Amino acid sequence: MKYISTRGQVEAVDFQDAVLMGLADDGGLMIPRAIPDATDQLKAWANLSYPGLAFEILRRFTRDMPEHDLRLLIEKTYGPSYFINDTEPEDKRDVAPVVQVGDLFVLELWHGPTLAFKDVALQLLGNLFEYILERRGGKLNILGATSGDTGSAAIYGCRGRRGIDIFVMHPHGRVSPIQEHQMTSVPDANVHNIAVEGSFDDCQNIMKSLAGDLIFKRQYSLGAVNSVNWARVLAQIVYYFYGAFNVLRRTGAKAVRVSVPTGNFGDVLAGWYAMKMGAPIRQLILATNENDILARFYNTGEYSLGEKVVQTLSPSMDIQVASNFERYLYYRVGGNARRLREMMAEFSRTGSLRVKPGENGLVDADFAAARADTQQVLETIETYYKQHEYVFDPHTACGVAAAEQLKDRDLPILCLATAHPAKFPAAIAQATGRDDLARHPAIDAMMHLPTRCKILPNSKQAVREYIIETLG
Ligand SMILES: *Cc1c(COP(=O)(O)O)cnc(C)c1O
Repeated sequence: MKYISTRGQVEAVDFQDAVLMGLADDGGLMIPRAIPDATDQLKAWANLSYPGLAFEILRRFTRDMPEHDLRLLIEKTYGPSYFINDTEPEDKRDVAPVVQVGDLFVLELWHGPTLAFKDVALQLLGNLFEYILERRGGKLNILGATSGDTGSAAIYGCRGRRGIDIFVMHPHGRVSPIQEHQMTSVPDANVHNIAVEGSFDDCQNIMKSLAGDLIFKRQYSLGAVNSVNWARVLAQIVYYFYGAFNVLRRTGAKAVRVSVPTGNFGDVLAGWYAMKMGAPIRQLILATNENDILARFYNTGEYSLGEKVVQTLSPSMDIQVASNFERYLYYRVGGNARRLREMMAEFSRTGSLRVKPGENGLVDADFAAARADTQQVLETIETYYKQHEYVFDPHTACGVAAAEQLKDRDLPILCLATAHPAKFPAAIAQATGRDDLARHPAIDAMMHLPTRCKILPNSKQAVREYIIETLG
């Protein structure tokens, strides 16, 4: 399987090169040249374990890796180390268990080390980086900027890996105490937290300008772990199959609809790839909070910037421009890279682009979309707690609220649970009036650990010097 860029100006490369490249060299995103058809495999795959299924799916996209190596890599990724902070008994451990809550099914994706779904992909990516570096030699220095949540999953993905150092910037004093502890209590020598005396945007600007300095980038082998990396999308395809199979077994239904709380469009895009491969998924329900550019797109065909980012209870969905949307648009314009370049240029110029609805009047029958505002999210958390004693985190609640709006009698709905509620105790307390519901022993324990963090002024030069000094 070769990989190409959505903008069509990069020579086709193998999987491992696409992983190292991250963002394509022409500014586009890397995608597989073809989407494998798994329709004939569904029976054989339906009862596989999570690692077994991951192997079957990944091997179709990773032809440049020996199958034996891939199997070991997957077993290492989703083995005991994945569950270090999980509270399930050993024989019940599952990367993506399904629980029924009322008439919805919930796919719990937060059993990994940082209690959020990003672990599913970032644990694999860390192992992949290590594997590739071991065989090719060399080092990788990951530089990231986080407003809170992604940083910890990236740090846990890279901690202790040979050949990798990771530097994560966060805005000093502007992330929640839990988020800060999750990042700064990791003791591994290859993890470097930087608190920048500025905003998240300042952190991101420093990252972009350092990564854009090609001499510095080459000299210090800078890499990225953000969600444009193809390996992250690929890892997430697996749980769409796995969750759908589970619901089919329980209900006897022929297909499911899957509700996905969406920010950067990485997660729901993985669901779309799963559908195109033949997973028994009829439709994706795309859920947003007040930052609803994507929900508006799927309801009107117009993708246009809103006023500015609104801060909500679901911070990982507080996003204006969804970086993975370009991959979807590429397919939408029939794989015409030139047309896509025009559309992206138009969007940069005007803050808006549009596609024509199909003959059925829909923008895309594969997607239904809805927005859930803060009030609806709080009500959803409260109602499900009162009626079912199940506590959703605010991101998951957004997806559940969208599913409620778009429910039909036909097909069961699987809602992706993207974070454990204990990561967002203030929102849970606000919704339920109780501060004892959102607890997790791993979070409680972590709050007492010693922390390490370098505080730096809001300056690219200061961060650059710190990196150089640290790497010696
Ligand atoms: C990142 C994140 C999301 C959004 O996922 P995307 O792939 O960016 O659409 C939703 N919920 C949680 C808890 C997240 O951390």
